[in-house]
Amino acid sequence: MEDAGADWLHIDVMDGLFVPNLTLGAPVIKCLRPSSKLPFDVHLMIENPIRYIGDFARAGADIISFHLEAKSDPRETIDAIHAAGCRAAVAIKPNTCARAVLPLLDVVDMILVMTVEPGFGGQKFMADMMHKITRLRKACDETGREIDIQVDGGITPETIAVAAQAGANVFVAGSAVFSAPDAAEMVRQLRTAASDA
Ligand code: ZN
Repeated sequence: MEDAGADWLHIDVMDGLFVPNLTLGAPVIKCLRPSSKLPFDVHLMIENPIRYIGDFARAGADIISFHLEAKSDPRETIDAIHAAGCRAAVAIKPNTCARAVLPLLDVVDMILVMTVEPGFGGQKFMADMMHKITRLRKACDETGREIDIQVDGGITPETIAVAAQAGANVFVAGSAVFSAPDAAEMVRQLRTAASDA
Protein backbone atom coordinates (compact mmCIF):
# COMPACT_ATOMS: atom_id res chain seq x y z
CA MET A 1 0.00 0.00 0.00
CA GLU A 2 1.46 3.37 -1.03
CA ASP A 3 1.44 5.98 1.72
CA ALA A 4 1.81 9.03 -0.60
CA GLY A 5 3.87 10.78 2.08
CA ALA A 6 1.16 10.88 4.74
CA ASP A 7 2.16 10.59 8.41
CA TRP A 8 -0.79 8.47 9.55
CA LEU A 9 -3.50 6.42 7.90
CA HIS A 10 -6.93 7.61 9.09
CA ILE A 11 -9.56 4.88 8.98
CA ASP A 12 -13.25 5.73 9.34
CA VAL A 13 -15.28 3.07 11.09
CA MET A 14 -19.07 3.48 10.85
CA ASP A 15 -21.60 1.12 12.38
CA GLY A 16 -24.83 2.10 10.62
CA LEU A 17 -26.23 3.26 14.01
CA PHE A 18 -24.19 6.23 15.20
CA VAL A 19 -24.09 7.32 11.55
CA PRO A 20 -26.27 5.92 8.77
CA ASN A 21 -23.43 4.40 6.75
CA LEU A 22 -21.72 1.13 7.44
CA THR A 23 -18.03 0.82 6.58
CA LEU A 24 -15.54 -1.64 7.98
CA GLY A 25 -14.56 -3.19 11.27
CA ALA A 26 -11.58 -4.63 13.09
CA PRO A 27 -11.09 -7.69 10.80
CA VAL A 28 -10.54 -5.44 7.76
CA ILE A 29 -8.09 -3.27 9.72
CA LYS A 30 -6.22 -6.42 10.74
CA CYS A 31 -5.92 -7.38 7.06
CA LEU A 32 -4.63 -3.90 6.15
CA ARG A 33 -2.09 -3.81 8.99
CA PRO A 34 0.75 -5.73 7.28
CA SER A 35 0.48 -3.52 4.16
CA SER A 36 1.54 -0.25 5.81
CA LYS A 37 4.12 0.95 8.30
CA LEU A 38 2.11 4.12 9.04
CA PRO A 39 0.38 4.52 12.38
CA PHE A 40 -3.29 3.57 12.07
CA ASP A 41 -5.54 6.37 13.30
CA VAL A 42 -8.90 4.68 13.76
CA HIS A 43 -11.91 7.01 13.96
CA LEU A 44 -14.81 5.16 15.54
CA MET A 45 -18.18 6.57 14.49
CA ILE A 46 -19.97 3.89 16.44
CA GLU A 47 -22.62 3.80 19.16
CA ASN A 48 -20.78 1.71 21.81
CA PRO A 49 -17.05 2.32 21.31
CA ILE A 50 -15.90 0.92 24.67
CA ARG A 51 -17.16 -2.52 23.72
CA TYR A 52 -14.78 -2.75 20.74
CA ILE A 53 -11.58 -1.04 21.95
CA GLY A 54 -9.77 -4.36 22.50
CA ASP A 55 -10.74 -5.58 19.02
CA PHE A 56 -9.41 -2.46 17.30
CA ALA A 57 -6.22 -2.40 19.37
CA ARG A 58 -5.52 -6.06 18.57
CA ALA A 59 -6.27 -5.38 14.90
CA GLY A 60 -3.39 -2.87 14.87
CA ALA A 61 -4.81 0.56 15.76
CA ASP A 62 -2.24 2.99 17.18
CA ILE A 63 -4.61 5.88 17.84
CA ILE A 64 -8.30 5.37 18.59
CA SER A 65 -10.85 8.21 18.39
CA PHE A 66 -14.38 7.84 19.68
CA HIS A 67 -17.26 10.30 19.73
CA LEU A 68 -18.25 12.18 22.83
CA GLU A 69 -21.83 11.86 21.55
CA ALA A 70 -21.65 8.04 21.60
CA LYS A 71 -23.11 6.02 24.47
CA SER A 72 -19.88 4.95 26.22
CA ASP A 73 -18.63 6.85 29.27
CA PRO A 74 -15.81 9.06 27.89
CA ARG A 75 -13.37 8.70 30.79
CA GLU A 76 -13.81 4.93 30.95
CA THR A 77 -13.35 4.72 27.19
CA ILE A 78 -10.13 6.75 27.33
CA ASP A 79 -8.87 4.48 30.13
CA ALA A 80 -9.72 1.41 28.04
CA ILE A 81 -7.86 2.82 25.02
CA HIS A 82 -4.78 3.54 27.14
CA ALA A 83 -4.98 0.13 28.78
CA ALA A 84 -4.97 -1.38 25.28
CA GLY A 85 -1.73 0.48 24.52
CA CYS A 86 -3.13 3.11 22.14
CA ARG A 87 -3.33 6.89 22.12
CA ALA A 88 -6.84 8.15 22.91
CA ALA A 89 -8.76 10.85 21.07
CA VAL A 90 -12.19 12.34 21.63
CA ALA A 91 -14.15 13.47 18.57
CA ILE A 92 -16.91 16.08 18.54
CA LYS A 93 -19.58 16.61 15.92
CA PRO A 94 -20.34 20.12 14.59
CA ASN A 95 -23.22 20.64 17.04
CA THR A 96 -21.17 19.75 20.14
CA CYS A 97 -19.54 22.62 22.03
CA ALA A 98 -15.81 22.79 22.71
CA ARG A 99 -16.72 23.12 26.40
CA ALA A 100 -17.91 19.50 26.48
CA VAL A 101 -14.32 18.26 26.03
CA LEU A 102 -12.71 20.44 28.70
CA PRO A 103 -13.24 17.96 31.59
CA LEU A 104 -11.16 15.37 29.65
CA LEU A 105 -8.07 17.47 28.99
CA ASP A 106 -6.17 15.80 31.82
CA VAL A 107 -6.33 12.40 30.10
CA VAL A 108 -6.97 12.77 26.37
CA ASP A 109 -4.12 12.72 23.81
CA MET A 110 -5.97 14.31 20.89
CA ILE A 111 -9.23 16.11 20.18
CA LEU A 112 -10.88 15.58 16.82
CA VAL A 113 -13.02 18.52 15.72
CA MET A 114 -15.33 17.45 12.91
CA THR A 115 -15.60 20.09 10.19
CA VAL A 116 -18.42 18.21 8.45
CA GLU A 117 -21.25 16.06 9.79
CA PRO A 118 -19.70 12.62 10.30
CA GLY A 119 -20.85 9.80 8.12
CA PHE A 120 -20.22 10.79 4.51
CA GLY A 121 -17.21 11.85 2.43
CA GLY A 122 -17.05 14.78 0.05
CA GLN A 123 -18.79 17.41 2.21
CA LYS A 124 -17.89 21.09 2.37
CA PHE A 125 -15.59 22.34 5.15
CA MET A 126 -17.42 24.20 7.95
CA ALA A 127 -15.26 27.25 8.62
CA ASP A 128 -17.54 28.23 11.52
CA MET A 129 -15.94 25.40 13.55
CA MET A 130 -12.69 27.38 13.80
CA HIS A 131 -13.74 29.17 17.01
CA LYS A 132 -13.86 25.73 18.69
CA ILE A 133 -10.31 24.98 17.57
CA THR A 134 -9.04 28.35 18.82
CA ARG A 135 -10.69 27.80 22.19
CA LEU A 136 -9.48 24.22 22.51
CA ARG A 137 -5.91 25.10 21.48
CA LYS A 138 -5.78 27.71 24.24
CA ALA A 139 -7.27 25.34 26.81
CA CYS A 140 -4.91 22.51 25.78
CA ASP A 141 -1.85 24.77 25.98
CA GLU A 142 -2.91 25.87 29.45
CA THR A 143 -2.80 22.26 30.69
CA GLY A 144 0.91 22.00 29.85
CA ARG A 145 0.17 18.58 28.32
CA GLU A 146 0.85 17.87 24.65
CA ILE A 147 -2.59 17.46 23.13
CA ASP A 148 -3.07 17.28 19.37
CA ILE A 149 -6.02 18.95 17.69
CA GLN A 150 -7.18 17.16 14.59
CA VAL A 151 -9.63 18.33 11.95
CA ASP A 152 -11.60 15.95 9.77
CA GLY A 153 -13.84 16.93 6.87
CA GLY A 154 -13.49 19.06 3.76
CA ILE A 155 -9.71 19.53 4.07
CA THR A 156 -8.09 21.05 0.93
CA PRO A 157 -4.94 23.19 0.49
CA GLU A 158 -7.16 26.24 1.19
CA THR A 159 -9.06 24.99 4.23
CA ILE A 160 -6.01 23.33 5.83
CA ALA A 161 -4.41 26.77 6.16
CA VAL A 162 -7.53 28.12 7.91
CA ALA A 163 -7.56 25.18 10.33
CA ALA A 164 -3.82 25.43 11.01
CA GLN A 165 -4.15 29.15 11.76
CA ALA A 166 -6.91 28.37 14.24
CA GLY A 167 -4.56 25.96 16.07
CA ALA A 168 -5.11 22.50 14.58
CA ASN A 169 -1.98 20.41 14.02
CA VAL A 170 -3.32 17.10 12.64
CA PHE A 171 -5.32 17.10 9.41
CA VAL A 172 -7.38 14.38 7.81
CA ALA A 173 -7.69 14.59 4.04
CA GLY A 174 -9.90 12.16 2.18
CA SER A 175 -11.45 13.38 -1.05
CA ALA A 176 -8.67 15.93 -1.71
CA VAL A 177 -6.05 13.18 -1.79
CA PHE A 178 -8.05 10.35 -3.32
CA SER A 179 -9.45 12.47 -6.15
CA ALA A 180 -6.10 14.13 -6.94
CA PRO A 181 -4.31 12.94 -10.09
CA ASP A 182 -1.14 12.61 -7.98
CA ALA A 183 -1.84 11.77 -4.34
CA ALA A 184 1.76 12.32 -3.19
CA GLU A 185 1.82 15.76 -4.80
CA MET A 186 -1.45 16.65 -3.04
CA VAL A 187 -0.02 15.53 0.32
CA ARG A 188 3.00 17.79 -0.32
CA GLN A 189 0.71 20.72 -1.16
CA LEU A 190 -1.35 20.14 1.97
CA ARG A 191 1.75 19.90 4.15
CA THR A 192 3.17 23.14 2.72
CA ALA A 193 -0.14 24.98 3.09
CA ALA A 194 -0.41 23.89 6.75
CA SER A 195 3.17 24.75 7.67
CA ASP A 196 3.03 28.16 5.92
CA ALA A 197 -0.20 29.11 7.71
ZN1 ZN B 1 -12.63 10.41 10.14
